[in-house]
Amino acid sequence: MTLIDPPARLRAVDVRSERQEAAPERRRLGVTFVTFALAAVALTAAADLPKKGEPPLTAQTQRSGGERPPEQLAVSFDAADLALEVLPRTRRLTGVATLAFTAKAPLDRLLLDLDRNLPVSAVAIDGRPLAAGAWSNPEGQLAIRLPRQLRAGEKVSARITYGGTPHVAVNAPWDDGVVWSEAADGKLWFATTAEGYGCDLFWPCLDFPAGEPGTVDLHITVPAELKAPSNGRLVGVDTLPDGRTRWNWRTRNPNTYALALNVGPYQEISGSYRSRYGNTIPMHYWYLPGEKAKAEALFAEFAPTLDFFEANVGPYPFGDEKVGVVETPHKGMEHQTINAYGNGYAKAIEGFDWLFQHEFAHEWFGNQLTAANWDDYWLHEGYGSYMQPLYGEWREGRARYAAMMQAQRGGIANKVPLVRGRVVTEEEVYEPEKGGPGGDIYTKGSWVLHTLRYAIGDQAFRDVTRLAVYGRTDPKPGNFKPRYGSTAEFEGFVRQVTGRDYRWFFDVYLRQAALPELEEIVVNVTGSAQSYLQLAWKVPGGGSFPLPVEVSVDGTVRTVAMPNGRGSLPIPASAHIVVDPDARIFRRSTAVEDLQAWQAERAAARPRP
Ligand SMILES: [Zn+2]
Repeated sequence: MTLIDPPARLRAVDVRSERQEAAPERRRLGVTFVTFALAAVALTAAADLPKKGEPPLTAQTQRSGGERPPEQLAVSFDAADLALEVLPRTRRLTGVATLAFTAKAPLDRLLLDLDRNLPVSAVAIDGRPLAAGAWSNPEGQLAIRLPRQLRAGEKVSARITYGGTPHVAVNAPWDDGVVWSEAADGKLWFATTAEGYGCDLFWPCLDFPAGEPGTVDLHITVPAELKAPSNGRLVGVDTLPDGRTRWNWRTRNPNTYALALNVGPYQEISGSYRSRYGNTIPMHYWYLPGEKAKAEALFAEFAPTLDFFEANVGPYPFGDEKVGVVETPHKGMEHQTINAYGNGYAKAIEGFDWLFQHEFAHEWFGNQLTAANWDDYWLHEGYGSYMQPLYGEWREGRARYAAMMQAQRGGIANKVPLVRGRVVTEEEVYEPEKGGPGGDIYTKGSWVLHTLRYAIGDQAFRDVTRLAVYGRTDPKPGNFKPRYGSTAEFEGFVRQVTGRDYRWFFDVYLRQAALPELEEIVVNVTGSAQSYLQLAWKVPGGGSFPLPVEVSVDGTVRTVAMPNGRGSLPIPASAHIVVDPDARIFRRSTAVEDLQAWQAERAAARPRP
């Protein structure tokens, strides 16, 4: 996801505007007793519709990731078939989920995550209905007692019928749930986000990053005249006898929070991209009517952006499905092959839409490479954020890159290490109140990668990135699958590619909160035209930090080796020096600290509304 400003274009329908909608409806119905009674029902329904933040979620449903119960670790998730109906009048969601698992250990019950606001009305195992007492879901963890114990290697299919009022997001995508909104023509505009609270907000799943199902079939039924773009390949659209349509999609290895429902009166732009790897990739953008020219301008960014990623990272991971983007009533989210776009076609000095570019980056860093533990999500968001300056450099050169890196620098907090080295939940990463690094996984992650690239060089950085994303340095369409990664594995790839151990680098940048500090002293020798610039790294934890430092001496750049964290450079006594003139090194800056302290003071002094 993205962690910048709240969405400017949020148009979620609140209860007040819903009541305003109800009034013309009543006038149309006329004056007979029967229609008056219908109007009264409509008004009651409007008053009872869920507001933002409703219905409330249990702690279990809000939680995503963390340590898993043995029953969830004992299954591999082979496939999910999800038939979902979006019912805007009552703001309900109903579903039939058919889930296929293989037991990896003896198993006598299935333990799935599902918000209890979507009660289960029936369960069948391998086609046979279970008695009502065979399942329970008191707090958002659905326990299903199997008719008999499974042996390791045995397969099981669970058909779960459920439905109710899905949780309405307060401020998607910063918190999650469904968004009931409307397009300019008053038609339904609906979306879901689930990164923070997890997939269990609307389907029964394994709510931890490594809980990806092998394949997913989606059948999404929506009101007449609306479209439901979703993940993967479109298999077909059925028209039901009542005029509604059912959109059938098939996708593979989706990230658990990547499955997304999007419903609206969409128009579609499509085209195809001939890849440098020889394959042809379909591209689709679904947008709301009324902004065709802006939609076409955004669509025109798809192919060059795709080319950047394919040239600098590697093949688009889902070329056999599609590149898909859909306009949403929330800011954005990396929904695999159907990225959410809600940036309002904002213009920027870098000349491209950073939000589209950022969410698209997650197809490589998040959806292809998935961190198996939330503790390693800096790999998603650090790379996801680093790709915008790198694209700026690809398009316009080093000045744009430097300007975009500097724009990220000012907000880095450095209060908590990026990586804790244990299994954590999403909240423990995103919420500083719960000790998480929060926004630093974006900007600090990006700067760690920037300095790593400097330390090991462009070619090694590219190889490390490819190993992390594809598990190999020679990816081609068809020779890789989506994979799970971790910080420890990433450090191993750096060691493998460079032949050197960079633990000192990661110990400081990932496992310490504070940044390394460079001490600079100019030693003048009395009576001599020769001085010495002495440099010393001071690092939190006091370890070794042999990162070389570039120094401009009267405009000529020299590199100072820093064995044992110290180095010295003879310079003319009159020389003008600039240390690290291209800002390649992520290090402590008192200017940034002073700026942040000043901003905090001003924010505290501002009168609260
Ligand atoms: Zn992101």
